[in-house]
Amino acid sequence: MDYQVILEEINNEIKPYLNQGKVADYIPALSQANSNDFAMSLQLLDGTSYHVGCSDLHFSIQSISKVFTFSLALDIYSKAIYNRVGHEPSGNAFNSLVQLEYEKGIPRNPFINAGAIVTTDSLISHHKSSLKAYEEIESFISSLCDESITFDETIYKSELECGFRNVALINLMKSFGNIDNDVQAVIKTYFKHCSLMMSTKQLCRSMLYLANHGTDPITNITHINEPKAKRINSLMLTCGHYDASGDFAFHVGLPGKSGVGGGIVALIPKKMSLCVYSPSLNKQGNSLVGTKALELFTTKTGLSIF
Ligand code: GLU
Repeated sequence: MDYQVILEEINNEIKPYLNQGKVADYIPALSQANSNDFAMSLQLLDGTSYHVGCSDLHFSIQSISKVFTFSLALDIYSKAIYNRVGHEPSGNAFNSLVQLEYEKGIPRNPFINAGAIVTTDSLISHHKSSLKAYEEIESFISSLCDESITFDETIYKSELECGFRNVALINLMKSFGNIDNDVQAVIKTYFKHCSLMMSTKQLCRSMLYLANHGTDPITNITHINEPKAKRINSLMLTCGHYDASGDFAFHVGLPGKSGVGGGIVALIPKKMSLCVYSPSLNKQGNSLVGTKALELFTTKTGLSIF
């Protein structure tokens, strides 16, 4: 299969959709993104990679970081992590407060904001330091993509100034006893890893271990064991796109995780990882063109998991 030709075709076919969504502006610094930007990368288990568009452009990974924080927390705590965060789709918006009140401060899954705030808190407890926890997250992702990455100070500060709902979520969870550390320290660490800047090339590379049941196929390093990698991938399929997770599975048919920065990562087990970037979002906060591009990819290649 000529993946480069397929990526070029997709790059042409998505053009009419580029301005149909809306760039996120509830974090003011994110609104600076250019809605005409598009990039798509894929990497096979043997390391061969294919790219189209601005695949070196660094964008804010936002909720894609939730995959990595959950991976670290699951590795450390194993099943005990599920006492604090569930594994069911939420059917609600990424920053919803309602369900959390009904369910006594236990978020539905680690891929909604509340869930990732809990996994972040668990990493701070493990390291007994918010700085060390952040450093571990940053160095874990850097090692996965074999390049050093860092967060964007402007986006971080913008979230800190305007992240009112996240502050509400963390305080609600604290009131139910599901946040162990200082709320300021936890929320700052959460915003920092959301503000990490990466390209589709780097994100694609960093997801390859999950496409290979937890072991990086190029370095042979096992980052998480196979049963746990299975759980992470299952959760990406059922919960990776908030209340549009069913829609993404229906149209694309791959485990994936989106972020409001406009990125989406996805994978085909035992075959490849993918990443697409386009900052205009659909109503549920997922990249509109990114979703379309991945749908075109699985349609053209027949490579969905179903
Ligand atoms: N930092 C964002 C927030 O907490 C993440 C949301 C997302 O990417 O979906 O609102």
